[in-house]
Amino acid sequence: MRKVLYPGTFDPVTNGHIDIIKRARELFDGVVVTVAINPGKTPLFSVEERVQMLRESLKDFDNITVDSFDGLVVEHAHQVGAIGIIRGLRAVSDFEFEFQMALMNRKLAGDITTVFLMPHEKYTYLNSSIIRNLAELKSDVSDFVPPAVLKKLKEKFSK
Ligand code: ADP
Repeated sequence: MRKVLYPGTFDPVTNGHIDIIKRARELFDGVVVTVAINPGKTPLFSVEERVQMLRESLKDFDNITVDSFDGLVVEHAHQVGAIGIIRGLRAVSDFEFEFQMALMNRKLAGDITTVFLMPHEKYTYLNSSIIRNLAELKSDVSDFVPPAVLKKLKEKFSK
């Protein structure tokens, strides 16, 4: 069973992330989507909310599981039995940071390979922070996020 880990903040998950996850599940037997707990960031949604939104959005796919972790990505990859790490590349601007991380992770764990996937071009300008800003300003983000996320954003910013 060739499993891969897709780590991210997912604050919240967008259709760009979903596009990457669907591509990964076609290439590998299983995908573990994992919400990384990053003490340096103050997220809009709690870890539990982010996991819940991912689970709801991915419930129709049997080879995808969702969890969360606190610590090193490569250690979590070993824990879940993954052979690689999936990352999404949107534009050249993502490349430098992702390249550094991939090489550092290879240094930390030579048996874990980072695989980069590109989303459909309609998602290349999409990120979670733009979605949070638009939703706060009550703009319609229904083209960019799964229905479960749209509902949670509306609740968050209804006051
Ligand atoms: P992080 O805070 O670790 O970047 P994100 O949840 O924002 O976490 O992203 C996780 C991964 O998904 C990263 O590899 C990022 O480049 C990728 N990603 C984010 N948004 C998109 C998108 N619209 N299309 C493709 N990949 C994306």
